[in-house]
Amino acid sequence: MSRALTARAPRRRIFRRPTPLRAGEASRVLPLLLPVTTLSAVAVGSALGALVVDRPSVAVVAGALGLLAAAVVAEAFPFPIEGVTGATSLATVFIVAATVLYGWEVGTIVAFLTMIVVELARRRPLVRTSYNTALYVCGGIAAGVIVSVVPAESLGALVARTLLAATAFYVANIALLGAVVARARDEPFLKTERQYFTSTSVPFVVLASLSATLVLLWEQSPFVAIVLVGPLLAIGFYQRWLHGALERLREFDRLKDEFIAVISHELRTPLTSVYGAAVTLQEHTLDEKTQRALLKIISSEAHRLARLLDDVLWASRLDTGRDATRVEPVDAAAVAAQVAEAARSRLPNTLSLEVDVPERPPLVAADPDRLRQVLVNLVDNAVKYSPEGGRISVRLDRAGRDVRFSVTDEGLGIPEREQERVFEKFHRLDPNMSRGVGGTGLGLYICRELVQKMGGSIWVDSEEGRGSTFAFALPTARSPREGMSGEAQQPI
Ligand code: ADP
Repeated sequence: MSRALTARAPRRRIFRRPTPLRAGEASRVLPLLLPVTTLSAVAVGSALGALVVDRPSVAVVAGALGLLAAAVVAEAFPFPIEGVTGATSLATVFIVAATVLYGWEVGTIVAFLTMIVVELARRRPLVRTSYNTALYVCGGIAAGVIVSVVPAESLGALVARTLLAATAFYVANIALLGAVVARARDEPFLKTERQYFTSTSVPFVVLASLSATLVLLWEQSPFVAIVLVGPLLAIGFYQRWLHGALERLREFDRLKDEFIAVISHELRTPLTSVYGAAVTLQEHTLDEKTQRALLKIISSEAHRLARLLDDVLWASRLDTGRDATRVEPVDAAAVAAQVAEAARSRLPNTLSLEVDVPERPPLVAADPDRLRQVLVNLVDNAVKYSPEGGRISVRLDRAGRDVRFSVTDEGLGIPEREQERVFEKFHRLDPNMSRGVGGTGLGLYICRELVQKMGGSIWVDSEEGRGSTFAFALPTARSPREGMSGEAQQPI
């Protein structure tokens, strides 16, 4: 069984850091590391000695090299298996087959070379490389012991020998892996071992059966064994695809949970303000100025609530394809000016907003309502994420055959690695609102979907701490009557 079959207590925690082990871990692991690596060094030496004394035939060397190549490729490209932490490699199949077909000496050398070549190519730390290589070698030795004591006079006996050899490899590999993890993490030995064996048992059965199939085919002819390449690749690719799909679902599920928490908070805040202001208005005799201030709170918080619900409705509409977007020639400058004007009326005193629109910009092919919606969203974000005294500008200019809209702020900015992801549904840079700005993570997703539906593209240029420019480009309308004819009239 591959050492990559790591269970819920992943080996990663010990080996994945640049320095091999932390001081405490290293001293705990050493009593295990030393005998295992020494045993494996002695085994590799003895196997080499035995091969020098009793030289294998050319056919054996060729067969062993073929299996080694397959094992190295399988080890270099492991695949994820659902329920097993880390990635699983099929190298075991080829190492066990080499042991059964050509004896313990060849099996041990194939096991040793497979792991050391891959670990060195990956530039893994020395301690990890030696221990992982030793694990494979010990697996190879265990399989070799079975091969030397279990006869294989019939086809059934050969299958039994292979399955037992695969089991021996698996037990040695996983037991040593569990032991080193338990020691390094100072966990109960039996509990860790149980976890490892439980989580790797199903893949083990698959790999052991594959080993038996490979050995049987190889016995007919090594060339016949090539038929296994197709199913093996299919298993690998299918598992990779399945795992990717499940991971995406899990991430989405997590984001949805986060979204429910965020939206509850987001709904509660304006509702509390509206309720508080309304009760105060109802129960107290207030001067006109205070009344106006409270009414302003009610109207702005109600507006915030409406926007929030709109976002949720729009996201659901876009998901289910229930949105109808009609493209027609639109006066982009007028839309930008209206959006800016409306934003100015609600702008906090500490911010300023300017509009920069060319004299006679071309008409743009867009749905006017959706275009407005995108611009409002971007301007609202710019306001939301701007610091006191920040300037916001809305620009419109021509870019080849497109018209480019951009909204620039001097706000928090977005780190480069997040610039693609902010357009994903529910994605927020600050899910815990530690920056104190609430939101649902739906606004930019809706913007992206709407812009794409209108045949355009959207992106962000940003520098952390210095501000962001969200921009999108839409095609210019071919003629003022474009919306009246042809495909552009179709809902898209
Ligand atoms: P939200 O409702 O959270 O604002 P959006 O989809 O509009 O959702 O934005 C997604 C995330 O992108 C936000 O949570 C925020 O972290 C980041 N973001 C959006 N606009 C800006 C901006 N102008 N400046 C800095 N960060 C922004």
